[in-house]
Amino acid sequence: MDWKPIKKHPGSEGEPRLAAYGDLARDFSWNAARAELDGLPGGRGINIAHEAIDRHAAGPHADRTAIRWLSKNGLTRDFSYAELAGLTARFANALTGLGLDRGDRVFTLLGRVPELYVTALGSLKGGYVFSPLFSAFGPEPIQARMSIGGAKVLVTTPQLYRRKVAPVRSALPELEHVLLVGEDEREDIEGAAGFEDLTGAASDRFEIPPTDPEDMALLHFTSGTTGRPKGAIHVHQAVVAHHITGQYALDLRAGDIFWCTADPGWVTGTSYGIISPLTNGATVIVDEEEFDAERWYGVLQAQRVTVWYTAPTAVRMLMKLGVEAPRRFDLSALRFVSSVGEPLNPEGVVWGVEALGLPIHDNWWQTETGGIMIANYASMDIRPGSMGRPMPGIEAAIIERTDDTVKVIDEPDTDGELVLKAGWPSMFRGYLDEEERYRKCFADGWYLTGDLARRDKDGYFWFVGRADDVIKSAGHLIGPFEVESALMEHEAVAEAGVIGKPDPVIGESVKAFVALKPGFTPDDALRRSLLGHARKRLGAAVAPREIEFLPGLPKTRSGKIMRRLLKARELGLPEGDTSTLENSQ
Ligand code: ATP
Ligand code: MG
Repeated sequence: MDWKPIKKHPGSEGEPRLAAYGDLARDFSWNAARAELDGLPGGRGINIAHEAIDRHAAGPHADRTAIRWLSKNGLTRDFSYAELAGLTARFANALTGLGLDRGDRVFTLLGRVPELYVTALGSLKGGYVFSPLFSAFGPEPIQARMSIGGAKVLVTTPQLYRRKVAPVRSALPELEHVLLVGEDEREDIEGAAGFEDLTGAASDRFEIPPTDPEDMALLHFTSGTTGRPKGAIHVHQAVVAHHITGQYALDLRAGDIFWCTADPGWVTGTSYGIISPLTNGATVIVDEEEFDAERWYGVLQAQRVTVWYTAPTAVRMLMKLGVEAPRRFDLSALRFVSSVGEPLNPEGVVWGVEALGLPIHDNWWQTETGGIMIANYASMDIRPGSMGRPMPGIEAAIIERTDDTVKVIDEPDTDGELVLKAGWPSMFRGYLDEEERYRKCFADGWYLTGDLARRDKDGYFWFVGRADDVIKSAGHLIGPFEVESALMEHEAVAEAGVIGKPDPVIGESVKAFVALKPGFTPDDALRRSLLGHARKRLGAAVAPREIEFLPGLPKTRSGKIMRRLLKARELGLPEGDTSTLENSQ
């Protein structure tokens, strides 16, 4: 590709947290990273909530705002580290008072309201396992996840309960307590108690019990992009990775105003929407409202956000509206912008420079990895379209796999499966109730990610596609991302999703689904123009044979294009698990 590298951003004040990638990658040790955190007093182990809240609340930054909440109806509420320490202590005491045992599962089904954050950190404090559900899920996905997770406590609102939990309550025999946030109409809800009542009556002092680094802390369900979501288990010492990756990959510093736009119902919204910024002493912006371009630019301006972590799907939606919109806002406080969740098209990286005055730093990770694994750092030039280089402490490789043998491919620029040397602190410790599936994720000491990538000679990794999505056509292996990115360069294209269609002659043929920017007409002339552009960029063997216009592409609620659904619909096959499909109800 002929995208020019983007020089590391000259405008940022101070040295980036990761100043010299090469040196650090060589000298890094997880023990040294662990030493940046406190551990529980008296050597009683390590607890995420202590590192995120209590140690700051006991120090000079006790009064700094930990969470600034922007409500749907225009309210702003600040919670200092000290206040959050008290609120989460109350919640931990309340749970203990309910007679819970260590390791019991506490689920939330809430919008982005303060109680969600108090529940997350209070549960961790008490030694309970926190599992967040996205509030837009319907009854089925809620029931499935709570059953797999053995939910004992659910924190939700009466309205959400009535609409989504009541219909499936009889299938949740383990659910004992329902803590209700907001207005009180709970007579008919089994095991109900008021969140306010319980926490209000509890003490705001709580001593965190000894916490083993390997104690289970978080249960996160994957996005369901490729099939039925899996429940990934994470432990307390994952916080070492949350903390250090926040510094290195997001350039987080104490005092930053940090906005992660992901909902805590997805791993990003917990690892980086709660834990990492707090362990690093930042102020977290929580916006209760959903995406809206004007609102988002307004939040960046009004809150003087310094570090912003978002997703390619949001970037594409902003791009759709052009560069004039952001230019009407004062975004001068922004220092670092990054994105995750899907490949970030080179077009998006460059758009950042034009629209925000800053490039967008792509990084790559999974629910299973618990934290960022490969990233573009503030201190490094960006190669648009690349996901960057492995985190210090992370060994990544490209392999060829045949049954159970793994061969590491050393030659640069060769496609293969992306693998990580097992053993970093935030690596998942299991898929709940799916031991066999977990074991199959490892071979020869490597964690097998299921994603295909290549590494260039300078150690930058380039995403090719998910193993499930890759297209085999006339002897070529075609990554949908490459084709989608080429289509995205066309002025008419807002989004593109590419699949392989069975073809008797060439194995699979490439078909593209395209959604257009406002003002363009889906007609044959445009189709020809797109096909011509794609052929010129990719060559006839890789360019799509067919282009279909759609008003929008099917996506997960976390914003990922669901290519498997495009394919199933194209081939008239069953759609499979659609519990995480956006607009599915
Ligand atoms: P499921 O495993 O249920 O199919 P999922 O893999 O989408 O869903 P997540 O763990 O949320 O669930 O997403 C991780 C995946 O997202 C990665 O394996 C990768 O395919 C994709 N991804 C994340 N970040 C990037 C990135 N920067 N570039 C390319 N792909 C990315
Ligand atoms: Mg996955």
